[in-house]
Amino acid sequence: MALGKTAIVTGASSGIGQATAKELASKGYHVLLAARREDRLIALKKEIEAAGGTADYKITDVTSRSEMTALIEAGLETNGTIDVLVNNAGLMPLSFMNKLKVDEWDKMIDVNIKGVLYGIAAVLPVMEKQKFGHILTISSVAGHTISKGSAVYSGTKFAVRAITEGLRQEIDPSHEIRVTIVSPGAVETELTDTITDEDIITAFKNGQPMEMLKAQDIANAIAFAVEQPAYVDVNEILIRPRQQP
Ligand code: NDP
Repeated sequence: MALGKTAIVTGASSGIGQATAKELASKGYHVLLAARREDRLIALKKEIEAAGGTADYKITDVTSRSEMTALIEAGLETNGTIDVLVNNAGLMPLSFMNKLKVDEWDKMIDVNIKGVLYGIAAVLPVMEKQKFGHILTISSVAGHTISKGSAVYSGTKFAVRAITEGLRQEIDPSHEIRVTIVSPGAVETELTDTITDEDIITAFKNGQPMEMLKAQDIANAIAFAVEQPAYVDVNEILIRPRQQP
C-alpha cells in the first residue's frame, strides 16, 4: 500500500485516465485529477472519496505549458513530493490524409505530443530534485503499427514512445526515477467520438466485431508498473484485446 504518495493523472475526466485515477486512489495514492471538463472531475473526486480515497482536481489544458506547470505545482503543494505522473490525455480524430483535416492534425500534435512534453518539462525538475518519481506515457498499439487513416495519430504515438524512451535513457542512474510507456490496443472509451471522417466512421461500423479492452485493464497495467520495487523499471507494456490482430 503506497500511503501518502501523490499521483497526477491527465485526461482523468474519462476512459483510461478516470479508471487509472480510481485504481491508484484505491492503492492509497492521493490523486490529482487533471482535464478540462470540471463537472466530470468533481464527480470523480466525489466517487474516489466515497470509496475511502483522497483526490483533488485542477482544470488543465495539457496544450498550455503554463497550465501544466501550475498542475505540477498544485500537486507539490499538497504533499511536498510527486511520485507519479501519468501523461494520459489524448485525442484520436483518425482521417485519411487526402481529407486534409489539418486542424485535427494540429490538435493531435498539440495534445498527444506537446501535452506529454509539457508534462515532462514540468515534472522532471521536481523529480530530479527529489531524486525519485515515475513518469508514465500512454502511447498506443498505433505507436507501433500504422494503418490507413492512422498516419497522423500514429505519428503522435510513435513520437511519444521515442520521447519517453529517450527520457528513460537519460535518467541519472543514481536517481530512483522510472519511466514507462503503456501502449494499449482497442479500449472501450470515448476516444473515437472525435472522429469526423465519414469514411473512417463507416469503416469502424463495418469492422470485425471483437471484445475490446476495458479502461480498467489499462489501469491495472499502469498500477502493475507503478507498484514494482524501485529497482524495477517496466519500460513498456503493450496490451491488446486477444482478438485484435
Ligand atoms: P477518452 O476520450 O475517454 O479520454 C481522453 C481524455 O483526454 C479525456 O479525459 C479528455 O478530457 C482528455 N483531454 C483531451 N484533450 C485534452 C486537453 N487539451 N487537455 C487536457 N485533457 C485533455 O479516451 P481514452 O481514455 O481512450 O484515451 C486516453 C489515452 O489513451 C489517449 O492518449 C489515447 O490516445 C490513448 N489510447 C487509447 C486507446 C483506446 O482504444 N481507447 C488505445 C490506445 C491508446 P477533457 O476533454 O475533459 O479535457
